[in-house]
Amino acid sequence: MEYIVTDLEWDNVYFKPEKRFINQILQIGAVKLNDDFEIIDSLDIIVRSEISNKVTGRFAKLTGITSEIMREGMPFKEAVEKYNSFVKNADVTMTWSDSDLYTILENEDFRLKDGLKFKLNYYLDLQKFVQQELYKRGYESKNQIALEAAADFLGLNTEGFEFHTAVDDCRVSAELFKISYDKARFESLVKDTSDKSFFKRLRFKPYPISDINDTDIKPSELEFSCPECNGKTTRITNWKYINRWFISNFKCQKCGFKFNGRVAFKRTYDEVKVKHKVCEYKPKKRKNNDVQSVSEKV
Ligand SMILES: [Zn+2]
Repeated sequence: MEYIVTDLEWDNVYFKPEKRFINQILQIGAVKLNDDFEIIDSLDIIVRSEISNKVTGRFAKLTGITSEIMREGMPFKEAVEKYNSFVKNADVTMTWSDSDLYTILENEDFRLKDGLKFKLNYYLDLQKFVQQELYKRGYESKNQIALEAAADFLGLNTEGFEFHTAVDDCRVSAELFKISYDKARFESLVKDTSDKSFFKRLRFKPYPISDINDTDIKPSELEFSCPECNGKTTRITNWKYINRWFISNFKCQKCGFKFNGRVAFKRTYDEVKVKHKVCEYKPKKRKNNDVQSVSEKV
């Protein structure tokens, strides 16, 4: 089995034809590992931008790639071809978090015209993989951990590595893969990119459901039990949709308690995520006041 660890560095630039900013890939780094997780080859490509002739100050500072260096880089199409011949028949490609994949899709869409794509075969989100090992070792935060912090936590000596330099990030990632390797976990997380749902899932943009009659909403999700006695309740106002929440007032059929129930739905590729909130009952304001204020203006 051969593994590829890939790391991309990108700069956020304004892309005129689309009238929006895109994450333009300007460096492609990769290392190839054998069955014993030893690095047997590496690749480092600087990509010349066809969109702008300057890099942002932030990008230059982070990566060491100045505008001059970038302008001497390789055209993107050639860079991807070179990358693909490096990957060749390697079984699994890994990146530190799937944000690299989103950037790959974006760059394929806007910068490659003839259907050329990054070669992926099987894919592993290395961050997810390593973070599960960290949990086993007592790490607690749910936030995605940065490469440097993960290396620290696992006691990897990173002296002599330049973080945010594509190939060095690959080397550190490869070390973390080796330290955290677990066959069962690997098999549970590795994905076949030739499976149609792989890219469908990536391209799917989760959205909040705003129509109360949407067939993705189960009627039972719109019911609340009484926060006081757990009894059945009746909805006593119409649903309102405010800031992604469906909001209404409820009254308990058993104890008469009134409260404000809120429910939000988010459609993701795999499921509908539902959140419920119970808030203090707020009766509607008396109409008189409104009438008064209106008549005052007149
Ligand atoms: Zn009650």
